[in-house]
Amino acid sequence: MDANLKSLEANDQEVFNALKGEERRQKMGIELIPSENYTYPEVLATLGSVFTNKYAEGYPGRRYYGGQKYTDQIENLARDRAKAVFHCEHANVQPLSGSAMNQAVYLGLLAPGDTILAMDLSHGGHLTHGAPVSHMGSLFNFVRYVTNPVDGSIDYDQVRKDALRQPPKLIICGYTSYPRDIEYKKFKEIADEVGAITMADASHFGGLIAGGAMNNPFDFGFDLVTTTTHKSLRGPRGGMVLCKKEFASKIDKSVFPGLQGGPHMNAIAAIAVTLKKAMSEEFKQYARQVLVNATTLADALLERQASLVTGGTDNHMMVVDTVASYGLDGKLAEETLDRVSITTNKQIIPDDPNPPLKPSGIRIGTPAATARGMGAADMLRLAEWIDTCLRAPKDEASLDAIRNDVEDFCQMFPVPGIQVEG
Ligand SMILES: *Cc1c(COP(=O)(O)O)cnc(C)c1O
Repeated sequence: MDANLKSLEANDQEVFNALKGEERRQKMGIELIPSENYTYPEVLATLGSVFTNKYAEGYPGRRYYGGQKYTDQIENLARDRAKAVFHCEHANVQPLSGSAMNQAVYLGLLAPGDTILAMDLSHGGHLTHGAPVSHMGSLFNFVRYVTNPVDGSIDYDQVRKDALRQPPKLIICGYTSYPRDIEYKKFKEIADEVGAITMADASHFGGLIAGGAMNNPFDFGFDLVTTTTHKSLRGPRGGMVLCKKEFASKIDKSVFPGLQGGPHMNAIAAIAVTLKKAMSEEFKQYARQVLVNATTLADALLERQASLVTGGTDNHMMVVDTVASYGLDGKLAEETLDRVSITTNKQIIPDDPNPPLKPSGIRIGTPAATARGMGAADMLRLAEWIDTCLRAPKDEASLDAIRNDVEDFCQMFPVPGIQVEG
């Protein structure tokens, strides 16, 4: 064990034991929450490094504190690598999270009360896309587009009608729970027609864009792309605003001093590490495999008569209507799978008649399982386990047997960054 951890063990048993418990949990179960991932050992090392000690308010070359030789190097590396990976003109790597990065865009480019067109939460949008419970939802005039009731996909004619009815200053595409790709060209045409700025919130699929497995909104003339760094990108928790040069100064001022104080330099160092990894051939292969695994898992569930929102997937996730498929609400489905060490999350589906804490579905994604080395054949086993559990959630003997199988199975896939002796 590393000397810093040894010292933690000696000095704080409570925290140390929880940390070891979490390592065990992550090793023994299959992680299928689409927004989660296993980061790299090098990221864990930089996150736990002395960069956490340093205040670096400002930007490289223009800081409010001394001693910035290495923080400047790190932030410049992170920014340059982000620009190279996402083919963009400017990158701000300081946002402390995905929510802060989106807030920085709204507050930097718009005035309170301005109209923003974004995807409705229950149809797959994120809280920060104007959900009434969010502060941004009360500060700006969000108009929320919904998906097509017939096939569950984005209805571009309806988005256009919404945009014409109440011309927005900003149009956002991107999602937290939507299993299809986005037609950026159509969004861009609608935005041009009404004179709106275009932003893709790629929080979920930033890594898949970086790995070349999904379309890059900048190739379609988008103005801004925001992405978290900890989901499909496999980095530390954080966010980035990527944009055209014309928005650079407004975005930088909005992040600091507009919204935040000192950046988390340990996270920025880890973002730099993550982006170098994202340039590798290995990462391209990873991104492709995430999609292959998702399609394989979705097809296997469909074969077993599960009902999936939009009928399948062309990204890294699927949304299972557990009420239609198994007569189980999403909370029960999540709990049943938890019982066999398969982690998913309950999820509202479009026009869900049920409340968010007891919704009609679950969300399943492949980024974390793929990071652990699971492939298409493994997805078939997963589908069988998931389907068997949800068909007989009260069959304790069967659940026990599956839990044993899952834990044995997990032994074959070491978790990156967790030492085997753990
Ligand atoms: C996850 C997510 C965010 C917010 O990220 P946090 O780091 O949790 O604040 C924003 N937008 C979308 C679409 C997301 O999926």
